Amino acid sequence: MATAIITGASQGIGACIAKRLAKDGFDVVINHYPSDSDKEKALAVAEECRAFGVKAEYYSADVSKFADCENMVKQVKADFGTIDALVNNAGITKDSLLARMTEEAYDTVIAVNQKSVYNMMKNVCSVMMKQKHGSIVNVSSVAGLYGNAGQVNYSASKSAIIGMTKSVAKEYGRKNIRCNAVAPGLIRTPMTDVLSDDLKAKMLEAVALRRYGEPEEIASVVSFLVSENSSYITGQVIEISGGLSM
Ligand code: NAP
Repeated sequence: MATAIITGASQGIGACIAKRLAKDGFDVVINHYPSDSDKEKALAVAEECRAFGVKAEYYSADVSKFADCENMVKQVKADFGTIDALVNNAGITKDSLLARMTEEAYDTVIAVNQKSVYNMMKNVCSVMMKQKHGSIVNVSSVAGLYGNAGQVNYSASKSAIIGMTKSVAKEYGRKNIRCNAVAPGLIRTPMTDVLSDDLKAKMLEAVALRRYGEPEEIASVVSFLVSENSSYITGQVIEISGGLSM
C-alpha cells in the first residue's frame, strides 16, 4: 500500500486532500499543528479516511520547525514502511499592507508557509531516494504567481514554493521523484471565511467562473499529480482558480 503525508490536514483543503487520497487507496498521514483542538479535528479526519479501508493516523508537528518534521518523518517511515507522496499544504496568512506589516508577521508566514516546505522535502526526499520513486505536491497560491495587495509576506512565501518546486524537480528527476505545485485561487475554507464580504465580492469579479472553488476541486488535481496518471509531469504549477487569469 502506498503512503501519503499531508501537512496541515486537520481542516480545509488539507483535510479534503487526505480524504480524497484515502478514497484513492493511499494510507494517509494526517499532520496537524500541535494544539488540542487541531488534534480533535485530525482524529475526526483520520476516522473518515479509515472508512475507505485504508490506514490513517494523525501526527502532531509544527512544520515550521525542522526537528518536528525530522521526528515525524522518521516515525511515519517506522509506522508505514514507505512514503510515496508528500503534500505540503500547511499554510497561514497574516495580512496587512507593507507599511503596517510587522517583522514578526513577515517572519512567521515565511517560516510556516515556506521553511516548512524545505523541512518536509529535505526529510522526505531522502526516504524517496532510497525507494527510487515519489511524488511531491506543494500548495502555492495565485498570490505567489501574481501578488496581492496586503500579502507581501504570503505572496513571497508562495512564490518561493514555486522556485523550490522547480529546483527539486530538476535535482530529483533522475531519481524518479516528481515535484509539482498547485496554485489555488479563492477556495471556500476557514482561511477565506474570515475575509470581508466586500473583499470577497471584489475578488469574485475577477474569476471567470464567478464562484468560489471548493476544496474538493483542489484535492482532485492533487490526486492526479500524485498518481501514475501524471507520470511525465514534473516541475509544473497548475493554477486552480476558475479562470482568474488566462
Ligand atoms: P486553513 O483552513 O487555515 O488550513 C490550513 C491548515 O494548516 C490548518 O489546519 C492549520 O492549523 C495548519 N497549519 C498552520 N500552521 C501549521 C504548522 N506550523 N504546522 C502544521 N500545520 C499548520 O487553510 P486552507 O484554506 O485549507 O489552506 C490550505 C493551503 O492552501 C494553505 O497553504 C493556503 O495558503 C493554500 N491556499 C488556500 C487558498 C484559499 O482560498 N483557501 C487559496 C490559495 C492557497 P491551524 O488551524 O491550527 O492554524
